Amino acid sequence: MTGRVEGRVAVVTGGCSGIGLASVHRLAAEGAHVVIGDVDDARGPEVATAVNGTYRRTDVTDPDDVSALFATAKQAYGSVDIAFNNAGISPPEDDSILTTDLAAWRRVQEVNLTSVYLCCKAALPYMLEQERGSIINTASFVAVMGAATSQISYSASKGGVLSMSRELGVQFARQGVRVNALCPGPVNTPLLRELFASDPERAARRLVHVPLGRFAEPSEIANAVLFLASDESSFITANTFLVDGGISGAYVTPL
Ligand code: NAD
Repeated sequence: MTGRVEGRVAVVTGGCSGIGLASVHRLAAEGAHVVIGDVDDARGPEVATAVNGTYRRTDVTDPDDVSALFATAKQAYGSVDIAFNNAGISPPEDDSILTTDLAAWRRVQEVNLTSVYLCCKAALPYMLEQERGSIINTASFVAVMGAATSQISYSASKGGVLSMSRELGVQFARQGVRVNALCPGPVNTPLLRELFASDPERAARRLVHVPLGRFAEPSEIANAVLFLASDESSFITANTFLVDGGISGAYVTPL
């Protein structure tokens, strides 16, 4: 039996940790050639070797780095079929609008939103030429509902990722390119652990709202990435793809 993305070429940003890392493994296990773009030079080469893929140091806020990443995929493996634009940050200095300064706001917008613009802009010409492609942009459940524990720039950046993905999905649907926004609920990754380590009360506050009563594991998000990347999701585009343990559906949660 062949894999679900056999022979496809997948670019994954933020592939050295958390959701990206789990997705690198899942896509490779199902037959994809994976090209990882990240700033983590300590882990990148070993992550790539483990899946027989390629690591290229890429700061997703840098247009030249991003173009070179997608060019590397094309040169190494002959196409660009899947773009999982996933790198993102959630720094503690991004908090209430009352205390978040302009520098913190801008940094989060650059890494979380401008990066997705750059990655889509770089991936699309390859996909349009092939008349085939699946772009998956990581947004978040906070793109569709307000969080009581505010991270103002993060939430705004994810709202931007969601609207941009929807618009691109509509624009390029008839040219064979699907674009979806993946909206995870809270996931047990370094990003979330770092945010909550200093504040267990904050973590507990978030868990109260999850009907499933726990955070997701990265592999559960990677399963959704694989589905959106593969032809199994061929009628899904411009979608708000929530993988959130029921958060967005709940008014109250069971005790
Ligand atoms: P993570 O911190 O575990 O991994 C993020 C990866 O991105 C790291 O490997 C890091 O080196 C890389 N990265 C950071 N800045 C970069 C840059 N400028 N250029 C290239 N790479 C960069 O995070 P995660 O939890 O796996 O999050 C991945 C995505 O999922 C992010 O977009 C995040 O906002 C989103 N998300 C996470 C959660 C959660 O609860 N963890 C929930 C919803 C959405």
